[in-house]
Amino acid sequence: MSADRLARVRARFDELTIDGLLINRYEHRRWVSGLTAHDASPTATAGWLLVSPARAVLITSFLYYGQAVAEADGVEVLQFPLTQRLHEAGAEQIKALGIRRLGFEAPWLTVKTHADLTKALDGAAELVPLEGVIEPLRAVKEADELARVRVAVGIADRAMEALFGELRPGMTEAEAAWFLEARMRADGAEAMAFEPGVAAGPNSAIPHHKPGDRPIRAGEPIWIDIGAKADGYCSDVTRTVLLGQPDDQYRRLWDEVLAAQRRALDFVRAGRTGKECDAVARDYLASVGLGEAFGHGLGHGVGLEIHEEPRLSRFAEQERLRPGMVVTVEPGAYIQGWGGVRHEELTLVTEGGLEVLTGARKPLTL
Ligand code: ZN
Ligand code: ZN
Repeated sequence: MSADRLARVRARFDELTIDGLLINRYEHRRWVSGLTAHDASPTATAGWLLVSPARAVLITSFLYYGQAVAEADGVEVLQFPLTQRLHEAGAEQIKALGIRRLGFEAPWLTVKTHADLTKALDGAAELVPLEGVIEPLRAVKEADELARVRVAVGIADRAMEALFGELRPGMTEAEAAWFLEARMRADGAEAMAFEPGVAAGPNSAIPHHKPGDRPIRAGEPIWIDIGAKADGYCSDVTRTVLLGQPDDQYRRLWDEVLAAQRRALDFVRAGRTGKECDAVARDYLASVGLGEAFGHGLGHGVGLEIHEEPRLSRFAEQERLRPGMVVTVEPGAYIQGWGGVRHEELTLVTEGGLEVLTGARKPLTL
């Protein structure tokens, strides 16, 4: 697995005009080396992965060495001495590997670390700022990655269904969020893919509302947006429900957002750009007077990260969808002061179509 991923990373060296790459972003280091450790902060990192045309060396500290040896796949593991700092050990390795033009992940290396490494290298190698090196390689999922996503999807689906049986007027958003989190953890989630989102009434007009102490009332929209993490991989699903009798506004938004989602689900296919997919839902909602109410993109890739490549948004003009990509399809409509509706499915782009991975019921009311 790792050998193939390393080969795909190295295959990019020529176009990037580098002869080595420093991988220090957690998800990328994990994807290439197998080390699952998180970084406490950009400077308290679990290690650097240095890739040259011939070798791949994971430099880590005493804190992570045992874990790195146990998990690393296809890369050498090196523990740097207690008398050294990571950038000093890194500079030594860069010289030993004979790297002269070292690419690094510009969004993930701090100014201070860059300065420290530049000094330690003392002209032995040039640092080349890059971005988007590993992301496109990770966008198409391999079979073992898809299997983990499916596990994470099942956990979130079951928690959603369980909450449907528990939601009552008077329950607070925070109580509902905790119910979901406890359910997912008890059901095997290693972590939340993100903090569970529950928003009711006027709060539901805020697409990223944080659950609070406001009691949920009958007759108001409630959206629930959750994701589990299973063996590193995320899921993502949103349902919008209502307790009691729906009014016309709720029915209209719920139906129109669903109609936009169905159009998108029929359109999201290999070969199309994220912008084209986004436009299908956006144009539909605009045609029924809800264009201004749909204030975010149609969807995003999901994998080791909850938001990753590819994007389904008006800015995603370049990349075309490919079989094996996992994307959300999540149109919404939000009315300030009243509330919002969002329907989100997680999907897999296949050779001939689109598979909807999420399976939780989608009831208009509970
Ligand atoms: Zn979501
Ligand atoms: Zn999402």
